[in-house]
Amino acid sequence: MDLNQQLQSVFKYNQFRFPQKEVISYLLAGKSKLALMPTGAGKSLIYQFLSTLTGPNEMVLVISPLISLMQDQTEKARSFGLQATFVNSSLSADEKIKRQSDISTGQHKLVFVTPERFRKPEFWECLKNIKVKYLVVDEAHCISLWGHDFRPDYSKIQTFREKLKSPPVLALTATATVDVQKDICSQFQLDLKDDVILGGIERPNLSLNFSICDHEDDKIEKLLEIMKSEKSGVVYFSLIQTLEKIARLSEIRPFHIMKYHGDLPPQVRRKVLKDFMKPSPQWIFATPAFGLGIDKPDIRKVVHFEIPSSIESYFQEVGRAGRDGLEAAGHMLYCEDDLMTQMDFLNWAYPDSEFIRKTYLLIEKDAARVAVEGFNFLREQLVFKNKRDFRAQSAVSILTRWGCLEEVDTPFGFQALQPPADEFFKTEDQNVLKKEHQKKLLSLVQFLRNTGECRLKQIYKYFNHHLEKDCGLCDVCRTK
Ligand code: ADP
Ligand code: MG
Repeated sequence: MDLNQQLQSVFKYNQFRFPQKEVISYLLAGKSKLALMPTGAGKSLIYQFLSTLTGPNEMVLVISPLISLMQDQTEKARSFGLQATFVNSSLSADEKIKRQSDISTGQHKLVFVTPERFRKPEFWECLKNIKVKYLVVDEAHCISLWGHDFRPDYSKIQTFREKLKSPPVLALTATATVDVQKDICSQFQLDLKDDVILGGIERPNLSLNFSICDHEDDKIEKLLEIMKSEKSGVVYFSLIQTLEKIARLSEIRPFHIMKYHGDLPPQVRRKVLKDFMKPSPQWIFATPAFGLGIDKPDIRKVVHFEIPSSIESYFQEVGRAGRDGLEAAGHMLYCEDDLMTQMDFLNWAYPDSEFIRKTYLLIEKDAARVAVEGFNFLREQLVFKNKRDFRAQSAVSILTRWGCLEEVDTPFGFQALQPPADEFFKTEDQNVLKKEHQKKLLSLVQFLRNTGECRLKQIYKYFNHHLEKDCGLCDVCRTK
């Protein structure tokens, strides 16, 4: 099988990106793999490609946690002429029946579902005469408690796999510490050393730069220098307040920057994303919320005005620069105060069980007010309007992950489904997670201060991988 020819004829791409071909070959040989690649690095192509190599009544089944992305993923696959579909709770009962009947007769080669779908006997029924040739677990870090996105149903996937006659697994994620890698490997019986592949920012065109700044003014000066040297790029901030403050500066205003953060209403955010994807060059100021599904190959600069919360976030964010292979750079502007911001952040990110329960009760009891006033109301009731305290947001996202809240189309966007069970608090102890996160922050600081070893090598090491050669492009390599 000539994989390159297949790539050109079906996908119209000239070549594979590392490590697409390696992973595909592995799966074709009947083996399983965990691939770590930042968002936009080309994970989807791997399973899209595999779906073109299935026989009659065979298909690729993709398990994904994000209902909101399934439609897009399906459309993208269809744009390559693939027979793809998804089944989830957003569909009407009739539509579900129709799609499952199409699946059962082998009309789809690529099917996206959430792990919760396996709770439904009719879904198992529609797979009865179909062979799942490859099982893909997207966002595989959801398996692990350490992944910060833990989804209880993800831990049942190995059991489902056995019921599906144990097809090879392709686990995909953008961020996985060694602990998370271990959890994924042990669940799918993979070998941590041989079955994990790291791909992403090992790119000959990307240079990583780190500047220690004494003060915010120093940062602003450096930021301006960078913005003047390039027509477009992304500047990441940890705090919305800092983002807004810097955007208001008279030196910055002439750049007509776009803004993306959690305080903007969903419609505004969607529009910003759409505008950002257009070819016209522009700078965007964003919080880490910006990035999900971002697929723009010609981002030249990724600047961090404040430090991110971990090396994996950094890896994710800087990995968005220079996907087209042309020269690109990451710039981290770091000052000691940033650390305080992150520590503060940690304090609000892991609310205790009482707080989580209270949040749930409010959303259930005052449903009408919550639907309209949303977080303003919750903050007023829970944290006395302290704007910096975002425990309410944290609690809502935890409750959503646990399946206690569901997404709805109100200004607030969520409604109560079922109260959090005691076992959730036992399995997912917020205090333990917080300590774990503190360790990650410490690793990041050690990384920032370590000017003795190639930056890329350090990142690889953090992910338990080894880079043969120094990158030759980062600040450390250049000063050598
Ligand atoms: P991920 O799932 O890792 O976030 P995607 O699979 O959505 O990333 O890929 C990001 C973009 O890169 C998509 O537009 C995709 O079409 C493109 N892409 C993927 N593989 C290749 C390739 N080999 N050559 C050129 N473009 C590619
Ligand atoms: Mg993806």
